[in-house]
Amino acid sequence: MLDPFDVIIIGAGHNGLVTAAYLAKAGRRVLVLESRELVGGCAVTEEIWPGYRVSTASYLSSLMQEKVVRELQLEKFGYQVDAKDPAFFSPFPDGRHLFMWQDRAKTLAEIAKFSQKDAEAYPKYEAYLERLAIVAESLLLTTPPDFPPRGPGDFIEFLKLAGKLRGLSRAEIVGLVKIFTQSAADFLDQWFESEQLKVTLATDGVIGANGGPRSPGTAYILLHHCMGGVNGHRGLWGFVRGGMGAVSNAIADSGRAKGVKIRTNAPVARILVKDGRAHGVVLQLGEEIEAKVVASNLDPRRTFLKLTDSADLPPDFVQSIKNFRSEGTSLKMNLALSGLPEFTAYPGSPGPQHRATMHICPSVEYIERAWDDAKYGKPSQNPLIEMTIPTMYDPSLAPPGRHIMGIFLQYAPYTLRGTTWDEQREPYAERILDVIEQYCPNIRSITLERQTLTPLDLERRFGLTGGNIFHGEMSLDQMFVLRPVAGWAKYRTPVKGLYLCGSGAHPGGGVMGAPGHNAAQAILKD
Ligand SMILES: Cc1cc2nc3c(=O)[nH]c(=O)nc-3n(C[C@H](O)[C@H](O)[C@H](O)COP(=O)(O)OP(=O)(O)OC[C@H]3O[C@@H](n4cnc5c(N)ncnc54)[C@H](O)[C@@H]3O)c2cc1C
Repeated sequence: MLDPFDVIIIGAGHNGLVTAAYLAKAGRRVLVLESRELVGGCAVTEEIWPGYRVSTASYLSSLMQEKVVRELQLEKFGYQVDAKDPAFFSPFPDGRHLFMWQDRAKTLAEIAKFSQKDAEAYPKYEAYLERLAIVAESLLLTTPPDFPPRGPGDFIEFLKLAGKLRGLSRAEIVGLVKIFTQSAADFLDQWFESEQLKVTLATDGVIGANGGPRSPGTAYILLHHCMGGVNGHRGLWGFVRGGMGAVSNAIADSGRAKGVKIRTNAPVARILVKDGRAHGVVLQLGEEIEAKVVASNLDPRRTFLKLTDSADLPPDFVQSIKNFRSEGTSLKMNLALSGLPEFTAYPGSPGPQHRATMHICPSVEYIERAWDDAKYGKPSQNPLIEMTIPTMYDPSLAPPGRHIMGIFLQYAPYTLRGTTWDEQREPYAERILDVIEQYCPNIRSITLERQTLTPLDLERRFGLTGGNIFHGEMSLDQMFVLRPVAGWAKYRTPVKGLYLCGSGAHPGGGVMGAPGHNAAQAILKD
């Protein structure tokens, strides 16, 4: 068969598309094969009800790397983000509420309602986190050195990494090490006294995590969420015009303009390997497509345990991948609404609360107890809930006067004890509405449609093994030089010509394009 392609990318998630676009920009002939009917993976907009265009999985943008946006000219291809303002709205059971705004003075006035001392500490906290985020951020587009080091080159790479710490004080270096190991709650306790502020900030520490705010390592996730920005403003998160699919479509169009070919409805069944070298793929319907290089946008377990014959991989590598933890605890619910939720703690519609991420999460202990349920295989009876209404920024996503609401929830463990998600999906959806109803009594009366995506559904729909939203836990033992496994963090794999280009590689999950960018550099280098 005629073979016109240099590289096959398996999966058209935003990272696979980034890899494809960079390779095509460098003159390679690239084919992307996607199992679903649309591109984007977890960054998609789907019309799940007539007239409602829903970001079914990811819903906010911040981490998308500016370098990628610039070099792939994504704005020219329609990528546009509206930064949230206010950023957060937390209603509390005692009727009080906390807003966090883009305007520093307004935020400080809000914090001062709960603690004057915290209002004074907050600017210092932000400046401190920003200093650490700048250092951590510089690692995102860096290929990790081999660990343990294989030769002098790796030692030099480690020295270069140490160089990135230049300019940080000794206390800040200690702080950086601590933030990688500490719990979000311990980290926040050092700064603040008010429960309301701490819990509003702590939610970022547990999004996507397999752990509560008191689990070591969650402080890093908090930092991870501070690393990006919108339109050059650090730490802001925003809604993408047209929904999250607009990010992926912009990357796909940028790639197509450079010659990338994309085939949807083309699930790959197997990666072809001969004499330790990848030479193509077989589609589920049996078609074989040859290429010298194959890059997988799929998570590591799917890539190596499902698509690659274990006989083509070293046994210790296969074992390490089997040990790579990728069970998720997040659930996504999408609603079509006839109106806006009325909060008892802040009545009035429409209001600034509807433009923010709305938290249902009254205390750090509440989140920790929610995690306690999940540890023993139960969805949280009182879950942490984040709600967003993208139609407040982009009304074109729903029919006139109607809204979409995205509900992101922790904790819904993939593996349930003594039952299944197929049995629990609807009863648990009702429980979620019960919890929201305590804060917004009209939620049921305005809900026209609902879609509940449990971790099992995230696995079935988006191909996320174990439903993990980051392709694998973002814990210290699965990060940087250890992602996905020690010795294989450079996007290369034990099979020559086979690369990883998705979130299971450094620097992990989120709509940021960094793994895709770094993988393209590794492929071009080889
Ligand atoms: C519910 C949810 C909410 C999230 N919220 C946010 C958020 O608000 N902001 C944020 O930054 N991040 C968020 N994330 C995380 C973020 O969306 C992901 O980390 C990121 O999109 C993953 O991108 P990727 O390109 O690495 O992989 P994916 O998007 O997972 O892409 C992999 C692609 O491979 C395809 N595929 C699978 N198997 C095959 C096969 N056999 N053959 C061919 N193709 C195949 C899949 O269909 C998919 O298109 C969220 C994730 C989820 C699930």
